[in-house]
Amino acid sequence: MNATPSPLHPDFKLGVLGGGQLGKMLALAAGNWHLPLYVLDSSKDFPAGRVTPFFTEGNFKDYDDVYQFGRQLNVLTIEIEHVNTEALRRLEKEGVTVHPSPFQLDIIKDKGAQKLFYQKKGIPTAPFRLFENEQAVRQAAEKGELTFPFVQKTRTAGYDGRGVSVIRSAEKLAGLLPGACLIEKQVDIDKELAVIVARNARGETKAFPAVEMEFNPEANLVEFLFCPAAISPELEAKAEALATEVTVAYDICGLLAVELFLDKEGQLLVNEVAPRTHNSGHHTIDSCYTSQFEQQLRAVLNFPLGSTRMKAPSVMVNLLGAEGYTGPAIYQGLEECLAIEGVHIHLYGKAITKPFRKMGHVTIVDEDLANAKAKARKVKELLTIISGK
Ligand code: ADP
Repeated sequence: MNATPSPLHPDFKLGVLGGGQLGKMLALAAGNWHLPLYVLDSSKDFPAGRVTPFFTEGNFKDYDDVYQFGRQLNVLTIEIEHVNTEALRRLEKEGVTVHPSPFQLDIIKDKGAQKLFYQKKGIPTAPFRLFENEQAVRQAAEKGELTFPFVQKTRTAGYDGRGVSVIRSAEKLAGLLPGACLIEKQVDIDKELAVIVARNARGETKAFPAVEMEFNPEANLVEFLFCPAAISPELEAKAEALATEVTVAYDICGLLAVELFLDKEGQLLVNEVAPRTHNSGHHTIDSCYTSQFEQQLRAVLNFPLGSTRMKAPSVMVNLLGAEGYTGPAIYQGLEECLAIEGVHIHLYGKAITKPFRKMGHVTIVDEDLANAKAKARKVKELLTIISGK
């Protein structure tokens, strides 16, 4: 067998499982180095299909599709963790470099296994118990073993809060989610933070500054993410150190997005992680020395990691499909937003909008974070995504 070509050699092949918005932005970053990105996802019409010609249509959960796609590659990475890890194991054995590894993915895909991992490694996380199904939770609650309110999370396949339910009292037990789950103590949250850490095969690590999520108090939905987080330099250093500790504990090569709770007593707890680029790192494209996408490339290709320093404070707003509209997307208010200084619009190119579907994001960069927040509110007012009749 020929030696593996160096990453910027024309014969070198880098692939990613998943061709949504994260795959698209990764392909755009790869384009700066004129590095072709091979993508596997079910339709060329997905966001990444527009920006890379090396798109294979297939299912990243299917053993054969992943294996056939992966065997032509030198390095394979992901933009979603719910992929076929059995095929990745075989690819690794056959000499393909897979980052993150199937072993790490199998832990992270399962919220229960994640929590056991933190417990074993002494990483602070909310107290929890695992259950086989909702009946077992009900029985434990009826025996008085659980204290209300508590948080129930399904072990697999939940995202954007869909696999999470807060059970406030015995009367609400009927609302338990079905299937294997974990029950967690409800944390008295002061702030929700996220830190993305990169690590390459040489063991070099770099953490991006912590991002803070701001919730709309009425809707209790994340309104925007801002950076720097409104925390003391000591807490910032602690958050970055904890996220780095988690990355090293997992032995990650690539990126790890670490979601943290800061409780009212000032303690940091790890909520969950994603071994890839993350929504909480989108602002880095416009506001940091290195974007999270370029950093993922640097990490998985074992290049020196880029500086994670901020160029300016920023606010990121997710562009969600407006309620009541499903169909071909129409963007309203783009021009007005583009007229505002520091506004960077990123549209993912999803053909169909649906209520709350992530259709794009906007990053507002401003030397003054308060100004950036005011502009972000303006953008939210002006920019709407609807559909024709
Ligand atoms: P997902 O994977 O769907 O994003 P998370 O575990 O991040 O699910 O939970 C979604 C949200 O639910 C969190 O951002 C937080 O606001 C709330 N939440 C989750 N776990 C707890 C907890 N133990 N205590 C209080 N709130 C929680």
